[in-house]
Amino acid sequence: MTCSLCENDYGTSLCENECTYLMCRECINKLKSPNCPQCRGSLNIKLFISGKICIEPHMPIPCRFVVQSKVHEEIDNDEVVATMRGEGDGAIDIPDEDIIYYDDFMNVEHELPIEQITPTTQLTGPFAIVSETCLPMDGFWCEKDFVDAKPFADIVNKRNHQAIVNCDVFVLKLNIMCDCFRNIAEWGIASALGKTLIILFTDLRDIDMHISNIDNVLARYIHHEDGTELIKKRKRNYIKDRKFLINNSHKMQSEFYMFAAESIKTLDKLSFTKREAIFTSHPIFNITYNEYVKKLKSIIV
Ligand SMILES: [Zn+2]
Ligand SMILES: [Zn+2]
Repeated sequence: MTCSLCENDYGTSLCENECTYLMCRECINKLKSPNCPQCRGSLNIKLFISGKICIEPHMPIPCRFVVQSKVHEEIDNDEVVATMRGEGDGAIDIPDEDIIYYDDFMNVEHELPIEQITPTTQLTGPFAIVSETCLPMDGFWCEKDFVDAKPFADIVNKRNHQAIVNCDVFVLKLNIMCDCFRNIAEWGIASALGKTLIILFTDLRDIDMHISNIDNVLARYIHHEDGTELIKKRKRNYIKDRKFLINNSHKMQSEFYMFAAESIKTLDKLSFTKREAIFTSHPIFNITYNEYVKKLKSIIV
């Protein structure tokens, strides 16, 4: 099962038509067109990534951004979007067509386009509604960057439901305390819809990466008083979380043995090359299919 393009590595199958065309990770990254070179089928895997969006700094959840618009006529949306993108600091890299406006989001009859996040991955949801004062310092989001969604929780639930219907693969990214209850309920929705299910736990490597990165981020926001305080606090929290994870992760993860068993079952239905394609499609996985299954089996026993 070598890559049909370079024949130098093994290939995975991304094609929606499950055709025989296989590609290695390197060749996938060089693709110019989102269509299968053999049958022109779509090469996209549609993900829904369920997880706590705002207050989980060590596990940034890829999400879609909703910008408030006509609720506050005086707000200049272009300015909000410019702040989100940052001034060369790469706050978030988001093209115009992937910004969702509040009015469109609230009108649940209006179908939202799906966002292309890597050459072979699309994101159907979830959604974060950003406030007009947001300052996502290199991904160091804080609660005030988001609008309180409580007054329209019903709409958010409906939008997430639609996005789960539209996905191929539902990913539950558990936070460190494993207390993201709405996300766990969404797993049930995805399961009833027959989606491929994947469960990811907080990984020590994620936290270590943030700890080693944090001084660079701090240097860039040194003139931003609130930001500096926030980042320093985050660093202390990472160190605390790291300890917590080392001492408690096995016990907490073992509570999810039924989720693990269900996930393996949904993946068993796919071809080997498709399963590999899912795990190489987005950096969020940071794990191969075989490593993933090995990890889940260690929870089940
Ligand atoms: Zn190749
Ligand atoms: Zn094809």
